[in-house]
Amino acid sequence: MSRIWVLGAGQLGQMLKHAGMPLNLDVRPIDIESEETFPLQAHEKVTAEREQWPETAATRQLAAHPAFVNLNTFPILADRYTQKSLIDKLGLATAPWQLVQSDTSAEDLHNVLGERVLLKRRTGGYDGRGQHWLREPGRDAIPDDWHEQAIAEQAIDFDEEASIVGMRGADGQCYFYPLTLNLHVNGILLGSVSPLARLAHLQQEAERMLGTLMNDLDYVGVMAMECFRVGDHLLINELAPRVHNSGHWTQSGANVSQFEAHLRAVAGLPLVEPTVKNTSVMVNLVGTERNDDWLSVPGAELYWYGKEVRPGRKVGHINFCLSNLADTKASLDRLEPMLPASYGIVLDWLRSQLN
Ligand code: ATP
Ligand code: MG
Ligand code: MG
Repeated sequence: MSRIWVLGAGQLGQMLKHAGMPLNLDVRPIDIESEETFPLQAHEKVTAEREQWPETAATRQLAAHPAFVNLNTFPILADRYTQKSLIDKLGLATAPWQLVQSDTSAEDLHNVLGERVLLKRRTGGYDGRGQHWLREPGRDAIPDDWHEQAIAEQAIDFDEEASIVGMRGADGQCYFYPLTLNLHVNGILLGSVSPLARLAHLQQEAERMLGTLMNDLDYVGVMAMECFRVGDHLLINELAPRVHNSGHWTQSGANVSQFEAHLRAVAGLPLVEPTVKNTSVMVNLVGTERNDDWLSVPGAELYWYGKEVRPGRKVGHINFCLSNLADTKASLDRLEPMLPASYGIVLDWLRSQLN
């Protein structure tokens, strides 16, 4: 049985472990806070479910392992400054941006980027944490501790948000899932739908962009690219060198999920063009208590992460991939009264995509 070590033991690590079972891959997610060391063998691969980690005995040991796949990619993508610089270097479209240096003023940023400017911390931000809007030109200064710690982005008046998950093998061969349409509320992903026929004309552009990035990085495994759709074009928002929340629908909607695809690539097993079933829907469960009634909804596939429930925390998701869209809508109707009232907008948005 081959063994793959995963730096990080959150839900992504657990879902990698789950995906490894049918292939008899022994996937070992490791808690980044652990001060233990582990019996790593020279030939065993190491991967990660996150792009950044603290220094602990466990992370030091895993990161020093010679078979840590993509080790050099993590620092590049974990820092928004080097990530945006890479996107620019490759000539790929992204939201215009500036580095916030020690002497950068809000006025400087407005002069270059326009009226609405979004500061993003260079490292550590997720689910919209680590963002600060400069809303009122001339009145809102850059907070002190954001100098040298952030980039500034022009606010993009996008039509909607989409993402693409791709995979690349050690031989350089790339495959992609269809674009996913995503709903973010206050910076956090709440719902996804894929595939959608009306996004098909953007697939080639998305594949070219993500393929260019993966090739440049000589990347092996699954990578996700979040985009803004502006008219008939995509702008890259950000990249994640790992399996991604907007690819969770592949657990129900494709013959090979993003988790299995990542493991196959890391283990050197064959990759294939994913065979996609019907249009899938994913509902993210954020800050809400588990309700076993969800399991009674036709077609519902629940992933409950077993984490303590806290406001704004991702604690699970439900996938649907039914044979027709009317059934999917009917299931979302059944689900609605089992979720907090705030989910009304998410379910309405999902239903509105299923026409
Ligand atoms: P994630 O959890 O996806 O890693 P994050 O905290 O790293 O999120 P981003 O993806 O950069 O943050 O931004 C979160 C959300 O904020 C985006 O999905 C989008 O809705 C909004 N946003 C980000 N950048 C911009 C921008 N330049 N203009 C307008 N909205 C933006
Ligand atoms: Mg992010
Ligand atoms: Mg994001």
